[in-house]
Amino acid sequence: MPTPVSHLEPTRPSGAMRALAPLSPDPRKAWSWLQRSWLGRYGVALLFFCFALLLQLELWPLMSTSPFLFFYGAVMVAGWWGGWGPSLLVTTLSLVAVDHYFLPPRLTLQMRSADVLALGIFALLAIFITKLNVSLSRALEERASLLEREHQARAASEAARTRLHTIFMQAPAQIFFLRGASHDFDFSNARNSSMLKSRDTLGKPFQSGVVKVGEEDARDVLDRVYTTGEPFVSGAVPLRFLQADGMEKETFHNLVYQPTRDAQGQVDGIAGFGFDVTDLVHARQRAEALATELRQAEFRTRVLAEVSTVLASSLDYEGTMRNLARLVVPALADWCFVDLAQPDGTFRRLEVAHARPEDAPIAAEVLHFNLMPEGNPRHPPTAALLRGEAILLEEMTPAHIKRSAHNENHARVMLATGLRSFIAVPLVVRGHTMGVFSFFTSFSNRRYTQADLAFGLELAYRAALSMENARLYREAQEAIRLRDEFLSIASHELKTPLTPLSLKLQALSRELERHPDNIPYALVKGYVDTGARQVKKLAELVGDLLDVSRIAAGRLALELEDVDLGALIHEVASRYEAHAARSGSSLQVEGGEAGLVGRWDRLRLEQVVTNLIDNAVKYGAGKPIVLSLEQGPSRARLKVRDQGIGIAPEHLPRLFGRFERAVSERHYGGLGLGLYITRTLVEAMGGRVRVESEQGRGSIFTVDLPRERVVPVDVSASQPQ
Ligand code: ADP
Repeated sequence: MPTPVSHLEPTRPSGAMRALAPLSPDPRKAWSWLQRSWLGRYGVALLFFCFALLLQLELWPLMSTSPFLFFYGAVMVAGWWGGWGPSLLVTTLSLVAVDHYFLPPRLTLQMRSADVLALGIFALLAIFITKLNVSLSRALEERASLLEREHQARAASEAARTRLHTIFMQAPAQIFFLRGASHDFDFSNARNSSMLKSRDTLGKPFQSGVVKVGEEDARDVLDRVYTTGEPFVSGAVPLRFLQADGMEKETFHNLVYQPTRDAQGQVDGIAGFGFDVTDLVHARQRAEALATELRQAEFRTRVLAEVSTVLASSLDYEGTMRNLARLVVPALADWCFVDLAQPDGTFRRLEVAHARPEDAPIAAEVLHFNLMPEGNPRHPPTAALLRGEAILLEEMTPAHIKRSAHNENHARVMLATGLRSFIAVPLVVRGHTMGVFSFFTSFSNRRYTQADLAFGLELAYRAALSMENARLYREAQEAIRLRDEFLSIASHELKTPLTPLSLKLQALSRELERHPDNIPYALVKGYVDTGARQVKKLAELVGDLLDVSRIAAGRLALELEDVDLGALIHEVASRYEAHAARSGSSLQVEGGEAGLVGRWDRLRLEQVVTNLIDNAVKYGAGKPIVLSLEQGPSRARLKVRDQGIGIAPEHLPRLFGRFERAVSERHYGGLGLGLYITRTLVEAMGGRVRVESEQGRGSIFTVDLPRERVVPVDVSASQPQ
């Protein structure tokens, strides 16, 4: 079966066809060969001569008066086809043939004089015909060659045009040609049309409102080029297109709008060329952004180094924070606020630093607006405090400022600062918030970024650390001061019972010398009782000190047993009655008769009650003291009420701390340990102790105790209330 040949594939000659190929001459080549070669030219001339001779011989009987007729034709063809040579040959042969075959005497070459004339005329006419034919043939040849050349030139120009068109169409740039003042598109290549989002732009005018060159409408730029005749050339200019979704798309181009001119030099259109350099511009922008970032990083490192120097320069943290705020402005911000926590839990605006001296009056007003954790959580520094995390507000609008202000006046002042971009960072160390550090830009128009926030955090962290160090230093100083004060008080307190003891011993020794044999019993008893009281006092002081060191070391053990609190109170009260009476106070016990029993450490509970009664007597100003017991199903409550000197409110929060005292050392002795030990013991037994007091009116100490202990004993870590 023959293989079907696709019409798309070029057909190839088979083997047999290839063998025959040289035998089947190309007719055009053969024609050309006949025209150009010597053999062809003379052959054709001879052929026509023979043909003319044949016709003349055949038709001679019909036209015996015209012996030359067909030979003219042969000469004409020979001249036409072969030129002068073949024509002269045919002319000569025709003369011979005519003379031989057609002029009398026929079949001879003799000529009569009339025949010579006829032959001569034939020869002249033949030469003339040949001349005409040769000229005509040459003219036709030249015309054909001219036509051929014109055809070739046209084809070449068409090819060049097509090539140029293809190049323009495929060029990696936007190319367009506009005609006339209305800027009608003559040409728009693929890139340009796709950029204009239109495929059939040709013949239509360049629309306004489609493309912006920088901030100007492209159509206005074209109008200017057309009217002034000045080309528009710009590098990396932003082009903005309105997209279907209403958004603008921005790309960057190197642009040339070149006016084109007619033969008279008048502007008749514009040739536009645009090269998309968006990638390059973006790369450059990225490189610039990186360079800026690098510069900023260097700058921040420098500022941080300066900050570290400022922070390390002093232990006065308020002064340090003020210096820090002044360093941040203007290096990092136009304004900076420092808000610090106060011991009573409120916040105070410590510093308002500002870059422009003329802002001083506004700064003075801003200083009065503190944080309001309970009143205004929308206030950005307050929000940073409440959330415990940094806040970055890249762009604050006036509406935002008004919404976040405490009140109208605050809003007015904050608007006057020109606030634009804002960062607030809480000052936190080990979970303890010490304040808020805020800074913002205004007239410099800078917008903060995440990098600035990170820097703010680092700054605040260092500041908080420095404040914490200052606080720890202050506390250490205070602890040293307390220790020194304690040592002086302790030595004084320990010495106080020793002096009367030593005096009584000296007096006893003198009495012994005075009565060597029989010293009066009452005398000795008096001295011994006084000495024993002083020794007891000494033992109590030493016992307190030992307890404190036991508590600090976590070695205070409780021995729980069933204790009747009512009985215990009555017993201690009766023991202290005489002591109270010496101070002019009476001791009265209310309640507790019905057997209030709980699981407690008897001796430690006794120590608690003793401490409270001791204090009531000591600070009770000789007024009555009342001990009252209340009983609940699971709890017992003891109140020790005196009507003595009372305690100032500012001392109340620290009264149960170690070495804490609320009276002057000159008027009252004491180590400031009694209440500390009391609180520690009560808490170890699962209870609580508190005080209510009014200066000059007396105090009430209340001890609440659970009757069944549930909390495990751990007294080492207990802190002052
Ligand atoms: P001190 O041994 O110095 O009295 P405490 O720890 O027992 O130490 O008491 C601490 C401080 O509490 C005292 O210095 C005193 O100022 C105050 N205080 C304690 N009890 C009373 C009270 N009943 N009335 C007034 N002040 C008291």
